[in-house]
Amino acid sequence: MPPFDANTLSLVTAVVNGFMALVWLVMVRSFRIAPAASRLLSAAYFLFIPSLLCLQCQSWWPSAFGIWPQSFCSLAGFALMSLGVRRLMRLRQHWGDVAVITGAAALLMLSGAGAGPNLPALVLATALLSLLCARDIWSGGRALQAAWLTALLALPFSLTGLLLLARTASLWWLAGAEGFFMQGNADRATLAWLYLLMTLMIALGLVSIVVMRLIARIHYMTLRDPLTDALNRRAFGAELQTLQAQVERGHQHSLVMLDVDHFKRINDRLGHAAGDAALLHLVAVLQVNMRELDRLGRLGGEEFCLLLPHTSQQDASRVAQRICEALRQQGLLWQGASVPLTASFGVVACQPGDPQGDSTLAMADWLVYRAKSAGRDRICVADPDMMLGRMVTPA
Ligand code: GH3
Ligand code: MG
Ligand code: MG
Repeated sequence: MPPFDANTLSLVTAVVNGFMALVWLVMVRSFRIAPAASRLLSAAYFLFIPSLLCLQCQSWWPSAFGIWPQSFCSLAGFALMSLGVRRLMRLRQHWGDVAVITGAAALLMLSGAGAGPNLPALVLATALLSLLCARDIWSGGRALQAAWLTALLALPFSLTGLLLLARTASLWWLAGAEGFFMQGNADRATLAWLYLLMTLMIALGLVSIVVMRLIARIHYMTLRDPLTDALNRRAFGAELQTLQAQVERGHQHSLVMLDVDHFKRINDRLGHAAGDAALLHLVAVLQVNMRELDRLGRLGGEEFCLLLPHTSQQDASRVAQRICEALRQQGLLWQGASVPLTASFGVVACQPGDPQGDSTLAMADWLVYRAKSAGRDRICVADPDMMLGRMVTPA
């Protein structure tokens, strides 16, 4: 088989870039996946095409196009790629560093106007922008996945950055105008192979990041209630089951279950939107009164449950009183008017011998029912001695 020459390989790389530009465009247009990042990445890939065709295929690329537009396309492509990767990793969108590198390279390139663009400045800028991408993937990815996986995803950009740094050094210090990578046909083919390989690895890495983001999103959605973002019944049950295992080892945990009083009236009188706003208001009040390690679940329509790790029943009762009072004091603000919102509470400590936590949940439910029957807007705490709930009505 005859070895591929640099021109053929560059053409293949250009086709891969064109394909990736379309892939990212489809992400924006059809699937609305990470639209801002996809738009930037699609534009970057489109900009790489002319620069590739020019830098590697000077023999047949029409000279009328000149080297200037292609050099700037390459620089702009790397700048957009850096911004796209930063966006994809959901990092804060600083663009100062990218602007400084791109601007300085553009000025340096223009400074050598008589003799054509300053190639070392261009290659150095693209090297730095690639390394920025690697750094952003590393710092944005570590929170989401294992360090080794993040390092693997950042690797193509790191290698591209290092390759381009080596090429900058060769352009500056060795062999005058073109540097050792570009001297003979064999070297040009090696370089073209490397570019193709890096392009494929980067494309694969970026698509993997999107797929992982999607999987993480879907996983999150299977655990959460879409309106309030509280844990859904299944996820709450799983958290409870985990803690029940610790109860067997002597740790104390408690549940605070609550159900909004006369919630149907809010829906009937003010509409479903007001009912939804009331639920969001309730969750906001609950979140202010819970610790970071506490878990909030939405068990049904307007029925919520707080799981309080390392908390005695007495302390859980205090938490319930705090929430009950906070709700009374801060009614729902709806269209300029305050709508009273109260709830009935059941408080129970998690009991041993209940691996799934089902009896504890049933007990909490029964205590809420007792609080409702006793007049609502109150707390019923489990009392093992009396086999009945003990009523607490905050002042
Ligand atoms: P009680 O004091 O006895 O608890 O009376 P209630 O009216 O709160 O209880 P009921 O169970 O009769 O009403 C619950 C209502 O909650 C019925 C249902 O239409 C409404 N609901 C359930 N989920 C949602 C939701 O996501 N949004 C809104 N707006 N309403 C909901
Ligand atoms: Mg209710
Ligand atoms: Mg209810």
